[in-house]
Amino acid sequence: MPATPTDTHCPYCALQCAMRLTPEADGHLTVAPREFPTNRGRLCQKGWTAAEVLTVPDRLTRPLVRRDGRLVPVSWDEALDEITARVTALQAEHGHDTVAVFGSGGLTNEKAYQLGKFARVALRTRHIDYNGRFCMSSAAAAGNRTLGIDRGLPFPLTDLAETQAVLLLGSNVADTMPPLVQHLGGVRRSGGLVVVDPRRSATAALTDGGGGLHLQPLPGTDLVLLLGILHLLVVGELADEEYLEARTTGWDAVRRSVAGWWPQRVAHVTGVPEPELRRAAQVLADAAPVHGGRGAMVLTGRGVEQHTGGTDTVSGAINLALALGLPGRPRSGYGCLTGQGNGQGGREHGQKCDQLPGYRSISDPDARRHVAAVWGVRPDDLPGAGVPAVELLDKLGGEVRALFVHGSNPVVSAPNAGGLRERLAALDLLVVCDVVPSETAELADVVLPVAQWAEEEGTMTNLEGRVLRRRRAVDPPGEVRDELVVLADLAARLGCAAPFAVDADEVFDELAAASAGGRADYSGLSHRLLDEAPEVARHWPAPGDGGGTPRLFGQGFAQPDGRARPVAVVPHRPADDLRPDAPVYLVTGRVLAHYQSGAQTRRVPELHRAAGGAFVELHPQLAAGLGIRDGEPVSVTSSRGTATAPARITSSTRPDTVFMPFHWSGPGSANTLTDDSTDPVSGMPAFKVCAVSVAPAATMMEESA
Ligand code: SF4
Repeated sequence: MPATPTDTHCPYCALQCAMRLTPEADGHLTVAPREFPTNRGRLCQKGWTAAEVLTVPDRLTRPLVRRDGRLVPVSWDEALDEITARVTALQAEHGHDTVAVFGSGGLTNEKAYQLGKFARVALRTRHIDYNGRFCMSSAAAAGNRTLGIDRGLPFPLTDLAETQAVLLLGSNVADTMPPLVQHLGGVRRSGGLVVVDPRRSATAALTDGGGGLHLQPLPGTDLVLLLGILHLLVVGELADEEYLEARTTGWDAVRRSVAGWWPQRVAHVTGVPEPELRRAAQVLADAAPVHGGRGAMVLTGRGVEQHTGGTDTVSGAINLALALGLPGRPRSGYGCLTGQGNGQGGREHGQKCDQLPGYRSISDPDARRHVAAVWGVRPDDLPGAGVPAVELLDKLGGEVRALFVHGSNPVVSAPNAGGLRERLAALDLLVVCDVVPSETAELADVVLPVAQWAEEEGTMTNLEGRVLRRRRAVDPPGEVRDELVVLADLAARLGCAAPFAVDADEVFDELAAASAGGRADYSGLSHRLLDEAPEVARHWPAPGDGGGTPRLFGQGFAQPDGRARPVAVVPHRPADDLRPDAPVYLVTGRVLAHYQSGAQTRRVPELHRAAGGAFVELHPQLAAGLGIRDGEPVSVTSSRGTATAPARITSSTRPDTVFMPFHWSGPGSANTLTDDSTDPVSGMPAFKVCAVSVAPAATMMEESA
């Protein structure tokens, strides 16, 4: 292995900060940030400590199989033989769809692609989906239906620094991806930053001092807020009518749909004072090119997307951007801030239940023919569409009797996690491929130890749609194998005749061919090209010479006639709304020190010291009414379960809302409480809002005694 430094990117979030890994004499890696357009030489504490996960004491280094109730080490042959025998027997008895695959937005493009191929060609099951469904599927659905394409940011992140105003809805970037904040410096200074969040998050606090604005709506009313702003633009004749006429179809219906959302009504529903609403509309209008402004951006995150009406809320945000004439204009547009490291690439190459590589529809006969030819199978042999993640997880123990989980920890990260744990336990076979014994791996029948991040080659697609190289800096420990090798081996054992490449560059070339002509076209890219000039913006679509497309929509939208299709939307109440026995909203989110289910970051001592466990954030007024003191244990109960964690009393949240981070399992598991109702368009669960009761933990214990 090279003793020289290796340039790569962070293993965690979609900012994919650039870093350099240097092997030390003791075998450990030192992490240093690198200059790159997205992170500009900075890392957050997760990135600085990323190498520690490679050598955590409980790192999985040997295959494990459950014998007499315990996971015991076995050889690779024994583990793979066991999987093959059990899958073969189950499919012989119950059909191909009895086996399902649950992937991850953390996998490289190559692994995501190969996993989709493995499901469809080796297992021949329709059941594959992934945890990216939890991440940004509502934004993807809204982008597809209006703009014709789903790329998180349709412009480079560096454009943020040049714009005049940013409306940031439901994203706490100051905690989740801190290096991004430097791109907001310009709008902060000029008073153009408008943050929408029910909490006064670290990001909302960025609006202090510079004349920015923090709007703090009642949870679940984000779309009402957006309709209210759009109403003000329409009645104030501030919309870019020329742009709307030239570049959209169906705007009249949107215009009519906002007529009933006058400011007083919006203020009443959202709790956002009317003057703040008017000021937000004016800040955005002033920045719009039609009024001589430098440009504006409307950005959404999970806070407004993870609802049963998430797709419609994102449509409201896109409509607002269209009204201001932003998409396709310099320093302007609508974008979604992807969360997971490869949430973007993960859904482009076949992990989504209804998609084939290249963002192709699995129901499209031409797409099936194209991909089948690349895979060397007959189109008719490919299964049809499966079901989205929550629906898939609901089938466990019923239609689905065996599950492969790759790089995901749904026991902690899925909604209504208590019910899921029971369904996982009811499976005939649970196979988990991971790097550490996550809570999900602990339930498995077979655990396969696989290489990660600094131990593997591949590519990731960041939040801008920029394809980046991940490079191997160290050998994996023990008997750990690359997932590409594992999938190829398993496919062969299952009798699959289609070839499965094991080298990441070869897999990428196949992926590129499969994506050619698709919406997410990588056909001009290769590992060699990405290595030659890593700083060049290789944003997909990248056909031809692979030069890429940093900015979309300049010449038109990705619809057949180039015109956007705005959708008139109406607000939804939360599926699990307030009621007498559950009079408080729960919102969930992340903290600076941890990433997603925390399986990796909770094992890093420095991050554990920074944030060692769950907590319940509640307003002093609510705490006083309930007799709760700071630091005391609080029980939060929804119709799905109870979680208990220490109280953090803070005026940063609303008096009617409590907040919990979702990184932990056990008594403080926030996803024990969350609602698994889903958005009907995207299948995204309603993580962000549900009704709960809150009480001192001691009271709860007395009542249940
Ligand atoms: Fe950058 Fe995200 Fe990694 Fe932090 S976690 S260093 S923000 S990529």
